[in-house]
Amino acid sequence: MRMKEDPMKNGQLKPAYNIQFGVDSEYIVWVSSGHQPTDTTTLIPFLKSIEDYTKLKYPKIVADSGYESEENYTFLECNNQLSFIKPANYEISRTRKYKNDIRRIDNMDYDEKNDYYICKNSKKLFANKIINRKSKTGYKSEITCYACEECRDCQYKSGCIKRSNSKIPLENRTKNLQVSKLFHKKRKENLKRIISPEGCELRMNRSIQAEGAFAQVKQNMKFRRFLSRGKENVLSECVIVAIAHNISRLHNKIVKKNVENIFII
Ligand code: SF4
Repeated sequence: MRMKEDPMKNGQLKPAYNIQFGVDSEYIVWVSSGHQPTDTTTLIPFLKSIEDYTKLKYPKIVADSGYESEENYTFLECNNQLSFIKPANYEISRTRKYKNDIRRIDNMDYDEKNDYYICKNSKKLFANKIINRKSKTGYKSEITCYACEECRDCQYKSGCIKRSNSKIPLENRTKNLQVSKLFHKKRKENLKRIISPEGCELRMNRSIQAEGAFAQVKQNMKFRRFLSRGKENVLSECVIVAIAHNISRLHNKIVKKNVENIFII
């Protein structure tokens, strides 16, 4: 659920504004504009602004893979909201190539009790240190580092250890993993939800409603370029466009005599 609109810059189109639409029952109920290059950092301020202004809190948040992060999962849980976010690796994780990739922790067994992974060569990767990482937004996450100490003559080494610019020759290198346990736990819980019958239905509706709202605005209403500059002005334009979109939706529903699903705020 996003749109990036581009003013002309040096004769080239460059993304300038990241526009977020929150959609409920086909109506655009909230809009934000910002300069964030990705969607990940937009989710929390977006939800907070809905709550601050309307005092309403949606119990279930459905979003596409661009919104997945440990910070977002944690925020939603603390805010008593259920996440239905498509994991960033959802599509690729279903491919044969991914499933056969021995480098990935998803393809290793994990012993939760003793905290180690077991690799393709049946060796153990033990946790040897914890590092703290801080994101651009200030969110702190705890990363556990795992290492295997028996990689020396492993036949799977070239497929298991990532090629990198390391000056250490492959034969002397060992397998290392960096894992945020919290992120993995939350991703697993979230994945369970999105593949449930309810999750599938919500994701299908998100795809139709949120992407449909952008399609309606950009394609049917031919709104492809902002007329003004600056976050506030752009936001005003978006609100006007959202109102036009909502009137059009309402009109369609009235014509089709399908008005029972109207969400009123
Ligand atoms: S390189 Fe090390 S971690 Fe990878 S499969 Fe071989 S022994 Fe296991």
